[in-house]
Amino acid sequence: MEIYTYGHEAENGVRQIMQLFFSLGDDVRVESKLEGRRATAEIYAFGKISTGEAFSGSDERLYITNAIKKSVFYAAKKLSDMPAPWGISTGIRPAKGARKMLSDYSEDEILNHLKNEYLMDDKKARLAIEVARREEKILSSMPSESVSIYVGIPFCPSRCSYCSFISQAIAHNNKYVKPYIDAVLKEIEHTGRIIKELGMKVDTVYFGGGTPTAIAPAELERLIVSLDENMDLSRVREFCVEAGRPDTFTSEMMNMLKRNNVGRISINPQSMHQKTLDAVGRHHRIEDVEKAFYLAREAGIESINADLIAGLPGEDTEMMKYTVEKILAMNPEAVTVHTLYMKRASEMIDEFEKIRFTKNAAAMVDTATMMLKGEGLMPYYMYKQRNTLGNLENAGFAKCGHESLYNVYIMEEVQPILAIGAGGSTKMVMGEEIERVFNPKEASDYTNRIDEVLKRKDVFYDFYKRRM
Ligand code: SF4
Repeated sequence: MEIYTYGHEAENGVRQIMQLFFSLGDDVRVESKLEGRRATAEIYAFGKISTGEAFSGSDERLYITNAIKKSVFYAAKKLSDMPAPWGISTGIRPAKGARKMLSDYSEDEILNHLKNEYLMDDKKARLAIEVARREEKILSSMPSESVSIYVGIPFCPSRCSYCSFISQAIAHNNKYVKPYIDAVLKEIEHTGRIIKELGMKVDTVYFGGGTPTAIAPAELERLIVSLDENMDLSRVREFCVEAGRPDTFTSEMMNMLKRNNVGRISINPQSMHQKTLDAVGRHHRIEDVEKAFYLAREAGIESINADLIAGLPGEDTEMMKYTVEKILAMNPEAVTVHTLYMKRASEMIDEFEKIRFTKNAAAMVDTATMMLKGEGLMPYYMYKQRNTLGNLENAGFAKCGHESLYNVYIMEEVQPILAIGAGGSTKMVMGEEIERVFNPKEASDYTNRIDEVLKRKDVFYDFYKRRM
């Protein structure tokens, strides 16, 4: 893919739009020009030439860039029948713009803006507004001076071939677990001191990974107990553990979580087709999912989320329908529908490139959305990742009262997050001002550099102390 720009420097925007329709390796050339507020694009692909033109209604950079992207979109659409339901909206938070408009504009005005300025199709524009409204309601209950805690456990029972996270198979890396837990305990203590000194209130706690339940129940309990000893958790409104792989569920683990006030867990079946799970190297059985639901219910966990993936290799809309039916039969309080995406780190990246332009994924996402809404699970948060099939979204659906606060906060970037453990990203938020501090991604790197991690964490303290 060759990209030439004239009169502007928005090459990235042009590339993002081209990638919705063409592969990087395709023999395709685009020439994108800007003259005043008029943007034009010419694309040469597959022996054909196609042109597009768009005008910006303002000199503001955002609208000029939109016009450039729109001209490329119009030209590319004539050469490809790939659905692009999000139009030129390639950002990772498609509901955020709609939420900012809620207080000043009517629903019709927002809808027209999303459709005309971002070329979203009617369904996606309405979804963005629906999600924005639910997010707004959730955000209005956020306590002042509150903070969320994230604890990362970067171990899994085995590594799935589509995985894009830094996570290690526990069987081969068991020797790293104990020192890792000891380092995390140090960071919990240090974080507790920062929270106390700043007088912040812990609002939500989220254990993510990896698969936090891949480690022994006693080890996970040490971490939870240490949080309780080092921070005031009496005002926590949501305590979630991403249990993830259903093959890690035992009654001992579930009872331990319940005993320690964990109210929400996530079980991630991804698909209810064994053939698919085997093909993508996800080593759990369908029966494990049913057993995991049973064990969690028996222990008294109140809120269960199930994660699914649309667009897994070999799957079609009928298969997605079957998966959603099976999941709904287990009566989850929430379901998150992800669209398959890959980073370079994934083992499946070559295969992903072959299926990246499948049209199935859009239909699968639509089917799942319709079925979940039909059962009273409504969309309440949403995000997109670069390099997903069809530039589609990931959306969380929940029964009323079971929406994950943490998920909304992290998407809308309105609450600080103190992240503990490998891969953690601590976020400082003050109005529109956002800063981040990152922990090392690898478990062993994090463990070896724990003293440096603790020192870096003081940036959080300084950020808020300066503004008090
Ligand atoms: S369970 Fe999740 S984090 Fe672990 S290897 Fe599989 S996809 Fe990656």
